[in-house]
Amino acid sequence: MRRYCNKFAISMTHHAFRTLQELGYRLTPQRTLVWDVLRQSGTHMSAEDVCAQVQRQFPHVNISTVYRTLELLVELRLVKETRLGPTRRFFEVEEEVPHHHLVCDTCGGVTHLHDEDLGGLNAALASGQGFASREVTVFGRCRTCADTSGPKES
Ligand SMILES: [Zn+2]
Ligand SMILES: [Zn+2]
Repeated sequence: MRRYCNKFAISMTHHAFRTLQELGYRLTPQRTLVWDVLRQSGTHMSAEDVCAQVQRQFPHVNISTVYRTLELLVELRLVKETRLGPTRRFFEVEEEVPHHHLVCDTCGGVTHLHDEDLGGLNAALASGQGFASREVTVFGRCRTCADTSGPKES
């Protein structure tokens, strides 16, 4: 059986917990575990995904607790929330470098893009629209899905 106290000790070194404590939030096991799950996954997770992982150690934790914790972490800018489509909310650990997302409509896959991948888009938006873009999400079909959807499948 995995010992929770070890994980807790490692996590405590992270700035997230100092931030929480400095702001007067209690470091409940649920809060530390939600953060750990998200950080260790290193990817985008829905609240349901996070909840399922947390419940392995705390079966009584419910989805609303997980949502509240995620929303707190988002508020503190420790976690980034991205709405990938109308019903999909994804959470990931906030990175130093801002990034953008390509979302595949077919498989739901998410790919990261960085500013340099956008070419002249930001500059064009700034000069054409006077709009300073912060984040870009592009919906479409990924290479894998494009490759596998030949005439034989339709
Ligand atoms: Zn795809
Ligand atoms: Zn992302």
